[in-house]
Parts: sequence; C-alpha cells; structure tokens
Amino acid sequence: MKPYDYQPNHIIFYHPIPTKTIFREGYAPQRAGIMEQKSDDSRYMEKKWQQKWKEAKIFEAEPEKGKEKYFLNFPYPYMNGYMHLGHAYTLLRVDVYARYKRMKGFNVLFPFAFHCTGSPIVSAADRIKEKDPKQIKIMEDMGIPDDMIPKFSDPVYWTEYFPDEYVKDVTRFGCSIDWRRSFVTTSLNPLYNKFIEWQFRKLKAKDYVLLGEHAVVWCPKCNSPVGDHARIKGEGETPQEMTLLKFKFNGEYLIAATLRPETVYGQTNMWVDVDLRYVKAKVGEEIWIVSKECADKLKEQKEGLEIVGEIWGGQMIGKTCIAPGIDREILILPSDFCDPDKGTGLVTSVPSDAPDDWMGLHDLYDEGLCNRYGLDCEEIKKIKPIPIIETPGWGDLPAVKISEEMNIESQQDREKLEEAKKIIYKSGFYTGVMNENCGEFAGIKVEEAKDLVKAKLIEKGDADVMYELSGEVICRCLTPSIVKVVSDQWFIGYGEEEWKKGAHKALSILKLYPEGVRKQFEYVIDWLNDWACTRELGLGTKLPWDDKWVVESLSDSTIYMAYYTISKYLEHEKLVSAEKIGDSFFDFVFLGQGNAEDLSKETGISESKLKEMKGEFEYWYPFDLRVSGKDLVQNHLTFCLFNHVAIFPEKHWPRGFGLNGWILVSGAKMSKSAGNFYPLRGILDEFGTDGTRFTLTYSGEGIDDPNFSMDFAKGAHARLESWRDFAINNYDSGREEKIGIDAWFESVLNRSAKEVIEAMEDTKYRTALKIGFFDLQRHLKWYIRRCLGQCNKAILNDLIITQTKILAPVTPHICEEIWEKLGFEGFISLAEYPKAKPTKIDETMEISEEFLINTISDINEILKVTGIEAKKIVLYTPPEWKYIMHRMAIEMGFAKELKVNNLMKRAMANEEIKKHSKEASGLAKKLVDQLTNRGEDELSRLRAEVNEKEYLSEAKDFLKHEFKCEIEIYSSDDKARYDPKNKGIFAMPFRPAIFVE
Ligand SMILES: [Zn+2]
Repeated sequence: MKPYDYQPNHIIFYHPIPTKTIFREGYAPQRAGIMEQKSDDSRYMEKKWQQKWKEAKIFEAEPEKGKEKYFLNFPYPYMNGYMHLGHAYTLLRVDVYARYKRMKGFNVLFPFAFHCTGSPIVSAADRIKEKDPKQIKIMEDMGIPDDMIPKFSDPVYWTEYFPDEYVKDVTRFGCSIDWRRSFVTTSLNPLYNKFIEWQFRKLKAKDYVLLGEHAVVWCPKCNSPVGDHARIKGEGETPQEMTLLKFKFNGEYLIAATLRPETVYGQTNMWVDVDLRYVKAKVGEEIWIVSKECADKLKEQKEGLEIVGEIWGGQMIGKTCIAPGIDREILILPSDFCDPDKGTGLVTSVPSDAPDDWMGLHDLYDEGLCNRYGLDCEEIKKIKPIPIIETPGWGDLPAVKISEEMNIESQQDREKLEEAKKIIYKSGFYTGVMNENCGEFAGIKVEEAKDLVKAKLIEKGDADVMYELSGEVICRCLTPSIVKVVSDQWFIGYGEEEWKKGAHKALSILKLYPEGVRKQFEYVIDWLNDWACTRELGLGTKLPWDDKWVVESLSDSTIYMAYYTISKYLEHEKLVSAEKIGDSFFDFVFLGQGNAEDLSKETGISESKLKEMKGEFEYWYPFDLRVSGKDLVQNHLTFCLFNHVAIFPEKHWPRGFGLNGWILVSGAKMSKSAGNFYPLRGILDEFGTDGTRFTLTYSGEGIDDPNFSMDFAKGAHARLESWRDFAINNYDSGREEKIGIDAWFESVLNRSAKEVIEAMEDTKYRTALKIGFFDLQRHLKWYIRRCLGQCNKAILNDLIITQTKILAPVTPHICEEIWEKLGFEGFISLAEYPKAKPTKIDETMEISEEFLINTISDINEILKVTGIEAKKIVLYTPPEWKYIMHRMAIEMGFAKELKVNNLMKRAMANEEIKKHSKEASGLAKKLVDQLTNRGEDELSRLRAEVNEKEYLSEAKDFLKHEFKCEIEIYSSDDKARYDPKNKGIFAMPFRPAIFVE
C-alpha cells in the first residue's frame, strides 16, 4: 500500500536510514572546480546569515500583547538516523510558511523536537551489542565512524547523538526554529514523561483508556504488537475473524473454518486431506481436530491450548460427523483442496454455493476413485446440493450453474475455480437472500444473516472464532507476524461514539491544505476503533497505573504541541525538577484549573512564573498549522484531533493541517534499494542551502508527489546568484521620468504580488514561485527591452525589492545578502512582505501590451515566411464598425448564443455595419470561429477597450528599434493612408493588418 522504504515525515522513521552512496554517476563528477569555489562561497554566506539570525535571536518567539500570533509545527522525527530529503521537503513547507507569516507581521512560533519512543532504537542498539553485521553495516553506511559504532549499543546514546545531528542539519537548512523549546520524548526526559502521564490519566478518567481482550497483529520474536509502521510488509493488514464450525465426531470435534457461517444450511459433507496428519488439541474441556499449523496459530488465541494426540486424514474417510447448525449426519470425504495453512485444514462442503465443493463431489462420482478410498459411489451420488440462497441472475444453485457455464470439469481446474468462486461469493453475499431451507433466517439478506447465524451458532456451542491475518505481515525484525489474542492489553477506545462526534466537530472547524483531504479524514474518524496504546518493550513513558507497560509512539505524540508552549521554561530555563511537578501543574497551565498560590507552594515555582507559563500557553494555543506527509492522515493526525477533543476545551482544538505527497527524485521514488536515497546533508553539500530550498519548493504542491529534479537543482544556485547580481547592480539606477510602458510593468508587478500572496496563503508555493519568480523575470526582461534598456528608477527599485522579498521565505540567505548590499537596515526575514497596490493594476493596459507582443510576433512570422528585409512596415487597425461587431460577438458568446445567423441578424440592424454588409458576413464567420468555446475569463479579457491605433503609435519608436526600419500606423478608417496593396481591409480587432516592403 505504502512505499515503506520512504515515508517523508512519518512521526516514526523505521527505515529511512541513509546510505553512503549519496550520488549516482552522471552528475557528481560534472562539478568543475569553478562550481566548487562558488559552492564554498555560498556555504560561507549561508553560515554567516545563520549565525546572525542566531545572535539576534530573531526566531526566538515570545508572546507579544496585541500582536497576532501564528504557531506552526512539524511532526517530530524519529531519532534513529540522519535527516533525509523527504523530511526536508515537509519541514520546508512549514518553514516557508513560518517565514512568510513572519513577513506578514505575525508573531511566529516554529519549534522542533525529537521523538525517541518505541522499540526500533532499542532493538538496533541490541543488535549492535550482539555485533550483528547487518546492523553494523547500516551504521557504516550512514557514515558513522567505525570507532564510534560501539557507543550505539546503548539506546540512550542514540537519543543524544541524533538530536544533535538534527540540530546541525536543520540549522544548516536555514529553518527559522526556536530551539529553546526542543526536547526528547520518553522517560529519559522526566519532564516530558510527567506530561504524558498527565495526558494518560486524563484519558483514563474519561474511560478512553481501557483494558480488553483483543486480537492484534503480533511479532513472536519482538513479543509485541506490530503497528502499521513497524512492518516491512503488510501495512493495513488486520486480524480477520473466521467462524470455526464444530462437527461432533466420536466425542471429539472436527473443526472447519469459514468466512460464510450463514451457509451452514447447505452443508452436505466434510472434506479432509487423506495424507495429512491432523492433531488433537485440547481447548478447554473439548478435543478439537485441526491441522498442526492451525493448532500453532490457535495457541496464541486460545489460552491453555495443548496438543494431546494425532489422527491421519485417511483414518476419517468414509466415517460421519454431525454438522453444526443443522444437526445432520454427514459423510467425511477426501479432497485435494484442504490446505493445512488455511483455516483448520478441514473444509465443510456447501456444493450449492461453493464451486470447489461442487467439483469435489463431481470428481467422486467416479467409481474407480471411490473404490480407491473404499467409498460406496452410489452413496456419494445420493449427495445433492441443497439450495439455500436465491441469488439474482444465478438462481438457487449458483455453484452448479457457474461450473456449467465456465465448463469447469474437476477440482483440478484451479484457475477457473478461483474465478468462479470470486464471482459467486461476491454476488451471493451482497445480493443473495436466504431461502426456506434456512429455518428462522429464511427471507433475510445474506449480508445480514451472516452475523445472526454466527451469533446463534456460538451461543449454542456449535461454533467458535479464530483470527487469521488478512495478508502476510513481516515485522521489521524480519519475523513473519501472527495474530495474538491478548487479554490484558490497554487500548484507547477511538470507537466511542460521543468521542467520534467530537472529532468530527474538530475536523469541521479545521482548515485543511488542501481542502480535498477532508473526506479521507471523515472516513478515518468513522473507521478508527480500539488502538493498542502500550507495548512491553522499548523506550517511552510507563503507563502511570500499570508500569509493566510503556505508552507506544503513536499515542505519546498526540497533544505535545501544547508542551512546546512551556518547554522553554522546563527544558531550557530548568525552572523546576520533574519530581516537583504533577498533574496539578499541567491542570493549571493547560486547563486553568486550581490556583497559582497553592501550586506555587506545591512546586516551588513562583506564582508569577506559573501565571507566565499559563499565559504563554493561552497566547500560542491552539496551534494554527501542522504539516505532514499524507500517510499520517490515517493515524497520527486523526489521533491528534481525538486527543485534543478529549483533553482540551474547543477553543484549544487545532486550527489547520497541511498534507503533502512523497518526494520523488528526478522522477523516481526515493529508496535505498534503488540507490537513490538522499540524506539532507549530502544534498546541501551538492546544491547549497538556498539552491536546495529553491528546488524543493518548486518541486510540487498539494497532495501529489513532488519531484526533486537534479537538473533543476544543478542550475538553481546560479539562477539565484544572477538575480543577486542584477539586483545589486541595478538598484537605484535608471531614468526619473515616466513613459507609457512603465504603467504596464507596474500593473504586472502589482498583479503578480497579488497572485503570489493568494498562492502563499494557500501554501501553493510552486504556483507562487512560478508567478512570482519565473513569470515575473520574464516580464522584467520584456520591460527592459521595451524601455530600450532605460527603466524607470522608482519602478525598477520596487521590482528589485518585491522580487527579493517574494524569494525571501524560500531562499532566505541570498535574499539577506541582497538586502544588506542594497543598504537596508535589519533582516529581510523580518521585513514586510510585498503588498499589491490594487490601483496600479490595469488590466486594459496589460491586454494592450499583450496585443502589441502578438502583433510583433505576427510581423516576425511574415518576415520569416517572405524572407523580405523590411524597409518599411505598415500596420492597419480595423475600422470602427468591426469593433462594434466584435463586441456584439463577445456579448453573444457570454450569452452562449453565438451563431453566424444570430450575429448577422444583430449586425445588420446597425446602420454603420449595414454599409459593409458583404464584408460583415465574412467577418461574422471569422468571429464565430475565433470566439466559440472560449471561457468566460478569456471573453471578459477581450471585452477590454484597447485603443489599438494609439497603443501602436506610442510603441512606434520601440517597433522601429525592434525591426530597424520605418514604421507607419493607420486605422482603416483613415482616408489618407499609405495602402498600395489595399491590405487595410484585412484588419480585425486584436489582429492588425500588416504590410511589409
Ligand atoms: Zn519483530
């Protein structure tokens, strides 16, 4: 289901251990010496700004009365390896927004912490202790020096080493983080430990944490449940309940497993494998006959099960047993399709509805075969399928019917039988109705009857249940998982109805980026049920009331964003030791319960500090945006909603979630096995911080998988440097006076700023870069060309500042550098984000310029086709009546009634057009061709009243310069015009006629 080798910002990273082979052949060697030099320069420059930010403490956020806050965060990564490109992508999505919001004037908090909960660190440490060569290789591949590896045999060392390395990488990546709020999880951090204990006592008090008997996916080696992310294979597979039917047989029971207990009414015989040695298992007071494989599975599900004997399949053939549900004596017959690994290795036969069973019987209608087993063939021929279910289209003996239709000849026709089975089971289950042979269940839909029949069988002692995995699951320790029924497992009861309602409400007030993921959240909230929240092994917080258990990693990470608001007091000021604080402390700070005076006595923290902490929490909370990979919808993010609902009042529920896809590198999924796995530090070495950030930001947006293009990354830094050079060299230069084209560029600049802000607000950074960098740069080039190199100084300055500020959240280092070189005070990181001046946006102006650009391209086309070296170019704009008709056509386009007839009818009612009726009918056809199927946006742009003749005339000098020849411009209405070839009549609105000589 999910690419396991790569999960970008999963709360827990089980597999993203980076390999040493960072770069494939093909691009690393292309780096020439000069690039090396440049890259070193940028490294120095980036470091310089990181140092300055740190010294000025500009990312250390304090509550500020009257200033609007914005609190964003990123799921703390798991500390079993270095940061990789996938983490970096999601982290950058948070950082770009943090930087953007800061420039928009918000007081921004962006903290970071380190997740250490769970067994992966402990088991990796154990493997190092055992000198397991595989684990040692993993460490070597990561780049850990040989002499350091033995240190990692202590799990605690991981929780010290990797957080430090993360701080280095994240800092070098230029993220605007308040590091004073960082912490590690688990009992290694007694303060965080207290917080989780508080959370769990709160949940327990609401009866959300319960002890129960449950079937869980289990690793016999780790001796622990295997959560989704702890699997190398089988994410999403679950324990599937099967009904065990009990057939009385000589005072013992033959056991057959089925997913369709309602079909007991059609049982005709029992199938066994003649050559299989079954075992007799003592379950409670009963003896069950099942395959050895089944007994092994049942040992984990039925307490006290022991094997007490054996029996060969062959020993049972020809004997009878009593079928459950119908209390009928049935024959035990040989079959080839009893698989000891599936169910119990015995199969009950329902030939009416199971094609396998029908064919099994059919095969035994052979005298010779019966003789071989010592069976009476006549007896077997008496066994007839019993109709039990009426299925639309298949009648009441679907197995018989489909076997005939598909020409299935025996139970050896495996392929056809599998297909037949699928078809029949599906239609029978979803559309069938139980018939009169089904006793009290006659007339009931199969879908509903299933659970009713099962319940009745179990109640009567005719059935039991067992669990099988819905598919293969392999634990990350490489051991195949099994299903275990645990009786003393702690669960969080996410199935509770009222709680679900609360979670739905929390979702309804949540802003989602992108909005499209809401349905998925709704589904997950409905679908979530009991969640095993403790483990016996691994690092973590002990369950406060049952210390043999440790809270698992997806359960101790649901509300810790609240802890960030006070962690700087606890973790960094070291205001108080953990022994002194308890639930009353968190009740006061987070829930406003109790009073500061009593709490001060209890904890030794001053009243004013207690109030300060409470105030700080209330200032920052709730958080405004949490960004993660899309894989966390189904667990972490939804848990986060549930737990906020359980613990906090509604005003402190989360405000926003952002989701993103999984990064591709040059189009390929990042994976260790494919040799394209990228630790962030290697990428930063190669492309520099700003180059990497620029490439990552441009790699995608929304929920689709972004693509980090190596080719793009190679040129990214140079692109930024050339902007830097342009900005520095051209700031404060140019002419003072204004000319016509200036208004056009001001319009473009302000419209771009407006559209960039819209995209940024929506976290669509790729769109923002496209409009705010690539398009804007293109417009700038045109503006320079149009001004013949002489830009207006004020406008050029505005452009340089706007462009640099638009880039600043994405590539902050080089933008600080530009900012400084231009002589501005302070950091661009704190400067005000560009504002669009709506009065400067002039759509008609922009359409007019577009008209000019199109005209130039038409002229070029003509020059190219004719090969003329022009001495003179004459342009003719259309006569007034053509504009009138053009406008008529546009309005008819809006009304969706644009047809040649309609247009002509209306045009002929106009005196001016009527004078040109012959020409008008030609124009009508052209206009209808041109304007049909245009969108409203396009039509509305064409409504613009461009004074074409005037606009072209103003651009005359430019056109002369472009084409190095004489330019003349006329309207076709002009009586005195130079038009030797009578070209003027071809002019159309937005399409002037062109004459070249
Ligand atoms: Zn395991």
